[in-house]
Amino acid sequence: MKFGGSSVADAERLKRAARRIVAAREDGNRVVAVLSARGKTTDELVGLAAEMSDAPDPREMDMLLSTGERISCALCAMAINDLGHRAISLTGSQAGIVTDTSHTKARILDVRADRIKTALDEGQIVLVAGFQGVSTSHDVTTLGRGGSDTTAVALAAAVDADVCEIYTDVSGVFSADPRIVPDARKLDVVSFEEMLEMASSGAKVLQLRSVEYARNHDVRIHCRSSFEDVTGTFVVGEQETMEHPLITAVTHSTDEARLSLVGVPDEIGAAAKIFTALADANCNVDMIIQNEPLEEGRKAEVSFTVPRGDLRVARETLEPIAAELGVDSIDAVPEMGKVSIVGAGMKSHPGVAAKVFQVLAEERINIEMISTSPIKISCVIAADKVPDAVRALHGAFELGAGGIQAEAPIGEQAR
Ligand code: ASP
Ligand code: MG
Repeated sequence: MKFGGSSVADAERLKRAARRIVAAREDGNRVVAVLSARGKTTDELVGLAAEMSDAPDPREMDMLLSTGERISCALCAMAINDLGHRAISLTGSQAGIVTDTSHTKARILDVRADRIKTALDEGQIVLVAGFQGVSTSHDVTTLGRGGSDTTAVALAAAVDADVCEIYTDVSGVFSADPRIVPDARKLDVVSFEEMLEMASSGAKVLQLRSVEYARNHDVRIHCRSSFEDVTGTFVVGEQETMEHPLITAVTHSTDEARLSLVGVPDEIGAAAKIFTALADANCNVDMIIQNEPLEEGRKAEVSFTVPRGDLRVARETLEPIAAELGVDSIDAVPEMGKVSIVGAGMKSHPGVAAKVFQVLAEERINIEMISTSPIKISCVIAADKVPDAVRALHGAFELGAGGIQAEAPIGEQAR
C-alpha cells in the first residue's frame, strides 16, 4: 500500500491512512506500506535548499529530501501502534533498497528485502520511507520526484505481493484530466503499455519509472482513492485487459520547452554529438525533429523538446557543442505544451492520426511537432492551447462518461 503526499498531508489524514493499513492487516494480509512526504513537504525542502545555494550539492540534496518521507513513516507507525498493532518504520536504506550513485535521480539496482520479510514474519506492519535508497557507495539517494510510486512497486516485486495499491487523492486513472474535462471517465483497466505512454506524455497519477518497473516485474498496480473505499484502476499486463478500446485516454503537459539548433552543418556525427552531450547532462529529450537539407553542403535544422525545468541546463550544455560544430544559432521557446492520445486499439486502425490533426485544425490550433508510437500520437502545441486541445480530442473520440465507450458504474457492475 502506497500513500501519496496528499493522503498523509496532516495528522487527520495520516491517521486515516493508518486505519486503512490496519484494516488491510485485519483482513488477514501481510502489509508493507510506503509513504510519501506530507503534503508539500518536498517542495518546502527544495525551497530551503534554494535559500542556501543556487546549485545545491546533489548528495546533500538527497540527505535533505529523504527526511520528508521518514517523518511520515515514523508518525504513521505511532498511530498504528496506538491502534493496537505493531508497526516498524524503515528508511529506504534500512529497507534494503540499493540504487546507483546518481543523486536526485537514482535508479534502483537491487532490493534486499530480508529485513522486511523478517518483520512481516514476526507479524509486524512494515512502513517504508518512499522515494529513497542507499547507493552502492553507501550514500542516501532519492529516486526523482514522484519516486515513492517506484519504491512501492519495487517492494511489491521484492516481496512478491499480490497487488501494489497506490492510494491517492483521485479515484483512479481517468480518460483525461477531470479538471480540464469534467466528464472524463475513470478507467477500470489499463495495460502497462498504455500506462507507460500516458505517464510519459503527462499523466501524473503514476511516476513513469514505477510503471516501467511494474511492467518489467509484472506487478499488478491498483490505483485508488485514499478517501473513499471504491475500486480504482488496475494497471496490468496486456493479456489481462479484456477489450482494447481504440483510444483510452487523452493526456497533456504544459511544461515543455522547445530548443532549435538552426544551421547545423550536414555532417556525419552531428546529431550524435548534440544528443550525447544532452544525455550526459541528464536532460530528458522528448520529441526530436531534424530536417535534411535538400542540397549538398546546406545546413540542417534540429529541434527537440525538453521539460521546461531542463531548459537552462540543455542550453548551457549545447552552447559549446554548437560553437564547435559551427551551428548558426540556438533558439528556445519556453512556453510549449503537448497533447497526446493513447490507445492500444489504434495499432490496428488507420486514420487516427488524420482525425487528431483534423480536430486540432478545427480548433485553430497550430501543430509544431508530431511524434507517434504504435499506440500514441503526440502533438506539440502552444502551452495556452492545451486545455482546448484536450477537450476537443476527448469529445471527438467520445471518451467521456456519456460517450459510446462508457461502461456501467462500479455498483452496477458488481451486481
Ligand atoms: N515526496 C517526493 C515528491 O514529492 C516523492 C513522492 O511523493 O513520490 O516528489
Ligand atoms: Mg505522486
